[in-house]
Amino acid sequence: MTDFGDQAILTIDLDALVANWRALAALAPNSRCGGVVKADGYGLGADKVAAALYAAGCRDFFVAHTGEGVALRASLPKDAAIHILHGVPEGAAAEQAARGLIPVLSSPEQIARWTAESRRQGRPLPAALQVDTGMHRLGLQPAEFAALLADQDTLRAFDARFLMSHLGCADEPSHPQNAQQLANFRAALARLQGQGLAGLRASFANSAGILLGPDYQFDLLRPGIGLYGSNPRAPETGPYRPRPVAHLQAPILQIRNVDSGGSVGYGATYRVEKPRRIATLAAGYADGVLRALSNSGIAAIEGAQGLGGGAITMPIVGRVSMDMLAVDVSAVDDAFCQPGAMVTLFGGAVDIDAQASAAGTIAYELLTRMGPRVQRLYTGGAA
Ligand SMILES: *Cc1c(COP(=O)(O)O)cnc(C)c1O
Repeated sequence: MTDFGDQAILTIDLDALVANWRALAALAPNSRCGGVVKADGYGLGADKVAAALYAAGCRDFFVAHTGEGVALRASLPKDAAIHILHGVPEGAAAEQAARGLIPVLSSPEQIARWTAESRRQGRPLPAALQVDTGMHRLGLQPAEFAALLADQDTLRAFDARFLMSHLGCADEPSHPQNAQQLANFRAALARLQGQGLAGLRASFANSAGILLGPDYQFDLLRPGIGLYGSNPRAPETGPYRPRPVAHLQAPILQIRNVDSGGSVGYGATYRVEKPRRIATLAAGYADGVLRALSNSGIAAIEGAQGLGGGAITMPIVGRVSMDMLAVDVSAVDDAFCQPGAMVTLFGGAVDIDAQASAAGTIAYELLTRMGPRVQRLYTGGAA
């Protein structure tokens, strides 16, 4: 969509993304670092994100759907491994194999599909195997896993590259489920390795899992959110300081003075107690600015704090509507606050994790909800 200056802009810093990938990789020097680019690279553009990570040396990518993998295959060189977290759906094995996609097999049905396709092609096709270690979302259940261990023909019919599982509580380091899942994962890995798959590798840690330390890291890391500039943990509790990657800004449409007793927006939920200056911005929930930020989120004007260039933050007032929201700009000098001036909604001077928490959610949702009207601009990257 052509930008006529009245829509939100999401600026994506690919150099910051790569710096975050390197910083996470450096926390686990004995592991390979992959990149999770599902949901269109957490809303930032899977093709651009994956190309930047590839240029930095990443060779292991993860998406959720087969369709995402098909699209990504077209934008990455052959030696990039693209894993499909949802596994192999009914009827999709031939297509996945033809495109060199690697399904994460999570059920006996999926294993049967991949085994059959491998036999049809006369070669063991690459796959990952997933066990459920306690999150109860995807992966083989204990009885299914035991049956697989006893079935040598199936175990050898395809090329099991690594064993995988996913942590449910990694962002809470003291949660007892972390150690339980780790013990279950180690046991499953040892049993498979004892069944002749001696060289089987392992992948266990998402971003928060990496921060749990060496015990949790294994061979292949699967960071997502940490790449995109969110800290998977409260900053004071961990070693990771991501660089902001996505910067959402919206232009001011109009500014007005509202007298005491006046109100702002639908439902008149924000009442003005002393005269305020209110700016209306060109972004709303149809753009992905969550309605839950009504009367609770913040915004910032960058470089408005005199010559030092610091930002001024201000509250979001009233309800976020479909295409607009209001902020209280009473504290901002008019020189920095005119129609057309850009106001930050996350990234830059507004910490994405703080904004997410003001909306009662997580940065993952702020990023992946960005709507199609938001213009994406890229800075940095190999190109
Ligand atoms: C989404 C996902 C990841 C990435 O998780 P983050 O918390 O974003 O780092 C890793 N592994 C699996 C199985 C996932 O579904």
